[in-house]
Amino acid sequence: MIKQYEPEFGFLEAEYVQKYMLSGGYLTEFKVTQEFSEEIKNFVSSKYCFLTNNGTVSLMLSMWALGIRPGDEVLVPNFTMAATAQSVYLCSGTPKFVDVEATTLCIDHDSLFEAISPKTAGVILVTPNGRFPSYDVDKLRQRLEAKGIWLLEDAAQSLGSFYEDSKHIGTKGIIGSFSLSPAKIISTGQGGIIITDSEKIASKILKLKDFGRDGNGPDQHDQIGGNFKFTDLQAAVGLAQMTKLTERIELKKRIYKQYSEELAQLPEIDLIHHNLSLTAPWFVDGLFEKRDQLSEFLRMNNIGTRAMYPPLSLQEAFKYASPGSFPISEAIGKKGLWLPSSVNLTQDDISKICSLIIKFFRTKAQ
Ligand SMILES: *Cc1c(COP(=O)(O)O)cnc(C)c1O
Repeated sequence: MIKQYEPEFGFLEAEYVQKYMLSGGYLTEFKVTQEFSEEIKNFVSSKYCFLTNNGTVSLMLSMWALGIRPGDEVLVPNFTMAATAQSVYLCSGTPKFVDVEATTLCIDHDSLFEAISPKTAGVILVTPNGRFPSYDVDKLRQRLEAKGIWLLEDAAQSLGSFYEDSKHIGTKGIIGSFSLSPAKIISTGQGGIIITDSEKIASKILKLKDFGRDGNGPDQHDQIGGNFKFTDLQAAVGLAQMTKLTERIELKKRIYKQYSEELAQLPEIDLIHHNLSLTAPWFVDGLFEKRDQLSEFLRMNNIGTRAMYPPLSLQEAFKYASPGSFPISEAIGKKGLWLPSSVNLTQDDISKICSLIIKFFRTKAQ
């Protein structure tokens, strides 16, 4: 069975963990986490970097640090992983959905400005699959901040992907958030990353993560916080994964390129464009005619796929959020499919998958 996605952990991770286990550490967040966060900070070129429990918690802590208050509205793309919107609820805010651009799947610029209301506190820019929007994100942030609205980047799928001016994705918002869950380009099982250049935000997040301690003694608290610490055990895995990141970025690009070349002639398929000089595609994504039948056909041939996220506006969980019609995200919900995208796929695996897809559409046409 070729799975749609599986993480890759091996001897190197085992070695790092064994070395750590014999070092006398307490397993919780300490020096190894510090080292891991330094590496990420250098990789993305941000001033501050924090590790948290997961990407959902990263988003939540970010909004707390930004001062979200109950009832505040946060604009969220209607095509994204549910955690983007759920993190808003977890901080007692209300997500308001906005449709996405067909070419980049990022939140649509004009619809975003139409959706702003007096209750709008912030906007979450998701960069799905490492894609950045067609408009200028620096200008977007300026225009929003002029209205007192913050811009948070949910870059969970964008480690290894860059903007056109070669800044790493996640560095243009006031805060950028990443995830280290098993499906992401590198993983520590669970894990989240927060990056920022703002010293003020950084000092808030440091305290929020550690029970609101003010640093003047083990039990002095000058604000409310919680326990959102990482563990050195995970950081040991993270350091091993970091040694593979550059190679993985190349692999992700190669995988996408091979699929797009081998499937290029099929009119039934629209692989969503990537600029491979900047983007490391997380998953191979596209719009497919007869998506569900194709997915079933591939499953019978031991090939896993995954339907792309359904529009949040049509999910039971979000029925009270913001009704409306969102044609692009609704079309993705009907036709969007992720093809196998693990870094351990061989070129033969991809050729086999592509021939099956071609066979499916040729047979259907007869
Ligand atoms: C994976 C993901 C998250 C959630 O991250 P977790 O670490 O699983 O909590 C949030 N937003 C997006 C866009 C994601 O892809």
